[in-house]
Amino acid sequence: MRLPRRLGALLLTTALGCGLLTACNDDSSGDAAQPAGSPTPARDVSLPDETKAPPDPDDPALDPALSRPVEDSLYPDVGDPSVDALRYDLDLAWSPDSRTLDGDAIIELRSTESGDHLQLDLGEPLEVSSVTLDGAEVEFQHVGKDLVVEAPVTKDERYVLDVAYSGTPQPTPAPTNRTDFSTTGWTITPDGETWTMQEPYGAFTWYPVNDQPSDKAYYDFTLTVPSPWIGIANGVMTAQKEYGGLTTTAWHLSKPASSYVVTVAMGDYTRTTNTTQSGLEISYWVPSDRPELASGLQAAAAGLDWLKNLLGPYPFDSLGFLLNDSRSGMETQTMISLGATDYTTSTAVLVHEMAHQWYGDEVTPQDWRDVWMNEGMAMYLQGCWEAAADGRTVDAVMDHYAELERKARAAAGPPAAYDPQQFGQGNIYYGPALMWHELRKKIGDDAFWKLVRAWPARAPETNATYDEYLDWLVNRTHVHRSFFDSWLLDPTTPPRS
Ligand SMILES: [Zn+2]
Repeated sequence: MRLPRRLGALLLTTALGCGLLTACNDDSSGDAAQPAGSPTPARDVSLPDETKAPPDPDDPALDPALSRPVEDSLYPDVGDPSVDALRYDLDLAWSPDSRTLDGDAIIELRSTESGDHLQLDLGEPLEVSSVTLDGAEVEFQHVGKDLVVEAPVTKDERYVLDVAYSGTPQPTPAPTNRTDFSTTGWTITPDGETWTMQEPYGAFTWYPVNDQPSDKAYYDFTLTVPSPWIGIANGVMTAQKEYGGLTTTAWHLSKPASSYVVTVAMGDYTRTTNTTQSGLEISYWVPSDRPELASGLQAAAAGLDWLKNLLGPYPFDSLGFLLNDSRSGMETQTMISLGATDYTTSTAVLVHEMAHQWYGDEVTPQDWRDVWMNEGMAMYLQGCWEAAADGRTVDAVMDHYAELERKARAAAGPPAAYDPQQFGQGNIYYGPALMWHELRKKIGDDAFWKLVRAWPARAPETNATYDEYLDWLVNRTHVHRSFFDSWLLDPTTPPRS
């Protein structure tokens, strides 16, 4: 997730070099990451639409997207546990001159209960023109951001919902006083380009969605913009076509994702690539008038190799970085979205956001109270990276975290019982990072890194609750539960060893 900006001063004092990166990589015999080449020409192939099979919500291929949707304990007004979305097929056309988004969302879903309606979130400024359920027109109400589809549904039956809509999306206020983001969702630049970041919610500002992290789903995107602009989304670009002054791209995300890690950007972008030691090609999408920005991102390949040594195989089949005019960055699944600032593109931040692909994207909190699951480990791994990169001990980095932690906990609450209006403050980062370091000292390096590697692999592509995680930790480590509860729930910082 977005890092608090005040971390930047610490991060930017870290000078990273290839020699240091190689030294902290267990596999020092491998080749260095390949340098980025010239811009990669896009493929010009037919769009999959032209041969696309009709949606089939009963297809067992969608079963990995079956979820246990819950009402969020901190943000209950967003998301609805009656819907378990399985796949979103979003066809989005953007007209920058009129700032108009024309959308058609085909949503394959399971109803989790029997009743007379389904409820999704969709931003109020978007006007819905039609809704069909399994091909039949149905009545709907769109009041505020609640889209209520009036149709009888049966528990555990699967349906195809098709929502056509149009309008100028508006971002929504973020529940935080962080200075690097005050709104989330669809954001329009002065030039009419667009990008999205939406943690803890805000996907609803641009498509109809069950906007709560417990409901993971597959995604396909078809994005149309005026040429030479291009639409970019999560996953792999499977097609690109230019016709009549418009560019259409198709994207496929091959593993289920929570809505907060979904992203789309539209604008004048150029792609370069490089490749990790293990052969994963990483894409770097930067504004076409600022190609120099790609060079700083290329350290991501070495950073990913470093993470893989600690965390195991990279969990997805693609990875990209997308620069926009945000002031922060976040771990949108397989297509990491970053503001084009020195801070958000520092190598330590790239490592942090890539760590989230395991901790946050592959295994995801069921409820926003447990965002510490994501941020504590990403921050700890970032600290280990910084220590290795600039020749400090991890203890020294943790001493610095501890200075910040006490104040952050006092201001915003314990990491797993924080003030909902103080989302994303330092308390959810530093406290659990310190907890992991204390645990490492208790159980030893070998057991600790096995544990860190085992958690995302335990139940990939799923969500976890506080109790599920703590039960697993206690069983694996034989450390008393009160150790974890104290670090996560106490109003004051537990003693460090
Ligand atoms: Zn983060």
